[in-house]
Amino acid sequence: MPTPTPRVSVRTRRVALITLAVITFSLVIAATVVTYQRRQPPLQTINYSQLYGLAETSGAVALQVEGETLTVTRSDGSRQEATVTGEAAQHEIVQLFRKQNVPVEFRPLQPGFLVSSLNWLLPVLTLAFIGFAGWRIYSSMSGKGSFELTDHNGQQNVGFDDVAGVDEARAELSETIEFLRNPERFSRLGGRIPRGILLYGPPGTGKTLLARAAAKEAGVAFLAASGSSFQEKFAGLGAARVRHLFAKGRKLSPCIIFIDEIDALGRQRGRGGDSASADQDQTLNQLLVEMDGFDQSSAVVVIASTNRPDILDRALTRPGRFDREIAVDLADVGGREAILKVHARNLKLEDGLDLQWIARGTPGFSGAELANLMNEAAIAATRDDADAVGRKHVEVARDRILMGAERQGFMMDDDERYATAVHEAGHVAVGLAVENGDPIHKVSILPRGRALGVTQSLPERDRFMKKREYLEDQIALLLGGRAAEQILLSTMTAGASNDIERAVEIARKMVSEFGMSRLGPIHLGNGDQPTSQGLLDRIEEATNELINEQLERAREIVSAERESIGRLVELLMERDTLDADEILSCFRTSKNVRAA
Ligand code: ADP
Ligand code: ZN
Repeated sequence: MPTPTPRVSVRTRRVALITLAVITFSLVIAATVVTYQRRQPPLQTINYSQLYGLAETSGAVALQVEGETLTVTRSDGSRQEATVTGEAAQHEIVQLFRKQNVPVEFRPLQPGFLVSSLNWLLPVLTLAFIGFAGWRIYSSMSGKGSFELTDHNGQQNVGFDDVAGVDEARAELSETIEFLRNPERFSRLGGRIPRGILLYGPPGTGKTLLARAAAKEAGVAFLAASGSSFQEKFAGLGAARVRHLFAKGRKLSPCIIFIDEIDALGRQRGRGGDSASADQDQTLNQLLVEMDGFDQSSAVVVIASTNRPDILDRALTRPGRFDREIAVDLADVGGREAILKVHARNLKLEDGLDLQWIARGTPGFSGAELANLMNEAAIAATRDDADAVGRKHVEVARDRILMGAERQGFMMDDDERYATAVHEAGHVAVGLAVENGDPIHKVSILPRGRALGVTQSLPERDRFMKKREYLEDQIALLLGGRAAEQILLSTMTAGASNDIERAVEIARKMVSEFGMSRLGPIHLGNGDQPTSQGLLDRIEEATNELINEQLERAREIVSAERESIGRLVELLMERDTLDADEILSCFRTSKNVRAA
């Protein structure tokens, strides 16, 4: 199939090469001339007697003394050099010249070989440096090495077998694949060619994987670049890179060009006045031009991915550009099981290990996290010298992912352990008492990651709809640690800072986004209509109210549960980590606690 030649790119490359050659050539000439001139006029070596003769016959116009070397310049411009050892002999000669009124110049002794070699070394080094810098600019302009290109025939290892739980997105891509397989037929039928596709969704959900699999399915080349690789130090280079990427794509046609993190270059234009954002605007403009510049004959599809579709410049999603948007969301239980199946393919699993059970216990996990989970589980099994991966290995892996690795060799003293136990017990008590919370799964006072202790709750199902009561309970749960500190320790610790931060975040969302406060439904202005300071103040106030209400509620629960909390703290001090059954045993007398 005839493909349009990427003239522009080839020409720029040739121009750059020629310029570089011309510059290098003229520099070499210049350096040679300078060196040659320095040698002019040529030196002639004479002996002491000849020098003596010169001194007496006044044929000299200048004398230079440099250590033991005396250089005579004669009236015809020629120069002669003699070596005179011994201070007395030198003095005598110099006196003779002075008698003839020849100016005498004493020069400091020329430095030795190393420094004098600088005479030629310096120009050579300068040349080398200029050549190197030129080459770097040239190669970054042509973008060599910055794109990943898989085999031209689409023979790559990722196919649709490796992507699971994203059936809708996959179905949406089928038309594109059909087009790439058979572009002529497609245009003959007059179908509008799906040129640009935007995959959006949380990180790690398989967007890159989908694009790759589509290339394999269609049997075309896959050319990938990351949006952040277009952010360049040199003005204009980002745009040049975009040009180069598309030129390469046209040459490879049919192919898929994949741009990861397109938000890095596709943000709304004209925000800041600084040069960096001006350059970014230029890069984005170039991208738009390239998207518009596809003719009917080239079979190139551009797939871009982002987890921030909201910040993209609107021009990007106009018809003819990225006009097809496909959501790639976190998978539900069934999807997670399918993803787990993909990643368990090469693992040996114990008979009792049911992938569906893992899927149920990992709501909110992305594909990448599930892959990580299976990998960590396999590592745990190896560490155990086990024959196969079992439930307990998966548990260890999940704790590690959810709570961070246990910090080895970090010892808390008993006071600190006690304070941490009280804090965590506060979370547990509130978590058990609230009605809309997720079940408490585990509590631990072993330091992990940056936290001193952890209370872990696990949603029993995916929550797509978050009710007001659920959010309020989440806030109370987060503040349970602080409530327990206040009531049982009569103090406060800095350990609660992360809890507070998260609680305030939820509360602020409830007020300013979900309209769940006394302010009613309100909307924060965007760029066009900025939010008034008055509204911001009222949002802050309402947020505070929400927080204080829930803190009060948490304090009431903690007060009512003192006895059970005491038992829990004791058991924690003894065993560090407690599972759900052990936790419930401490709360057996409590009326507050939901039936487990
Ligand atoms: P994204 O581009 O959405 O950030 P990636 O496609 O790069 O995510 O996924 C990263 C890794 O996570 C993949 O290499 C794969 O191992 C795993 N993964 C993510 N989503 C899926 C999925 N739907 N099916 C199977 N594996 C997945
Ligand atoms: Zn806490």
